[in-house]
Amino acid sequence: MEAVARDLSSRYGFERIDTPIFERIDLFARGLGESSDAVEKEMFRVSGAKGSEEERSEWALRPEPTAGIVRAYIEHGMQVRPSPLRLWMLGPMFRYARPQAGRYRQFTQWDVEVIGDPGPMVDAELIELAHRFYAEVGLRGVVAHLNSIGDAVCRPGYRDALVAYFTPMASRLSPDSQRRLAVNPLRVLDDKDLDLEIAAGAPKSLDFLCDACRAHFDGLRELLDRLDLRYAINHRLVRGLDYYTRTTVEFYVAGREGQQDALGGGGRYDGLIEVLGGRPAPAIGFGLGIDRTVIAAQEQGAAVSAEAPLVAVVSSTPDASDRRLVAATELRDGGLRVRADGLRRSLSKQLEAGAKAQARWAVILGDGPSDRVILRDLDSGDQRELNLSEVLSVLSAGQ
Ligand code: AMP
Repeated sequence: MEAVARDLSSRYGFERIDTPIFERIDLFARGLGESSDAVEKEMFRVSGAKGSEEERSEWALRPEPTAGIVRAYIEHGMQVRPSPLRLWMLGPMFRYARPQAGRYRQFTQWDVEVIGDPGPMVDAELIELAHRFYAEVGLRGVVAHLNSIGDAVCRPGYRDALVAYFTPMASRLSPDSQRRLAVNPLRVLDDKDLDLEIAAGAPKSLDFLCDACRAHFDGLRELLDRLDLRYAINHRLVRGLDYYTRTTVEFYVAGREGQQDALGGGGRYDGLIEVLGGRPAPAIGFGLGIDRTVIAAQEQGAAVSAEAPLVAVVSSTPDASDRRLVAATELRDGGLRVRADGLRRSLSKQLEAGAKAQARWAVILGDGPSDRVILRDLDSGDQRELNLSEVLSVLSAGQ
């Protein structure tokens, strides 16, 4: 999956960026919004050695990639580079939540960001890119959930409407939601414990969009239709992060749309760069979770192997590991994927280990110094005798 992500990043003209795995906690706090779960409860704090100046420093393992990327963008003057800037990253993220199925304390995200493009064309392009990723790793039935949460012009009116709606029924909200109602009422919609009837009656952000946000959203929908991409409008998709504007998107396998099942998500964050001290620039990005994509692919029985078949080099006597190494090196020189058995064990044990490592072929060396070997197809059991030098041409020809 990571190979697919890297390949697509390059095919879509993104440049690689790698930010540090830990940074100042206030960067993440400003980037994520103080009221988000990621800041309130899930930050993995890092400190210096006991007694050092940094002992009390406020560092944290990165919970998400965008804040670090924007920090680097500002700090290294990337705004003078030709705009828009297209960046990608693949790496571990950390959140100190209770681990459960599909929710880990360390997980991997493939992240893409475009800075300096107001959309909506690029919004559609990124959603198409995500669909292509899921298709290329063999996942079927992925659907984008879509919403627009407006911008600084129209969001205040929507927030007021949410406060007016939720306040009279505050006692029926979870303690978290009651607290957030004052700080960030959009996040009440995000609460997995929110009563479904209450949620269904809540004001919808799409009804509050200003003309510019409405035109942006309509433009995006039109492009998605033209690209034949499936999406569903999800009024509760407000994202936990405060800096999002307009487009919000999440990806699910249709029918598996619970809280723990979002395969990836993201959206537009036209306000973040200014919040972090840069010159304002529109931007959009998303993070696709590799772990959950693996789980979903396994559930569907999707085969995700872009790798060439593996060859196991074994020998009829246990103690010929030196010859196994020499033969494996020769086959590797020819570009084959090879594992050589290094242990002193019987031929049958060597073959068993090869099969467990998912080898497709075994090359069995004989007793003597002769170059004659047996090439065995481990799926069918068919075998033939040939010279080691011929193995390469036989396997490269796909025979
Ligand atoms: P978020 O930044 O919360 O929108 O996360 C983006 C994607 O990263 C999600 O859709 C998941 O696929 C993945 N993800 C987020 N948190 C976790 C976690 N704790 N464990 C595994 N995957 C996660």
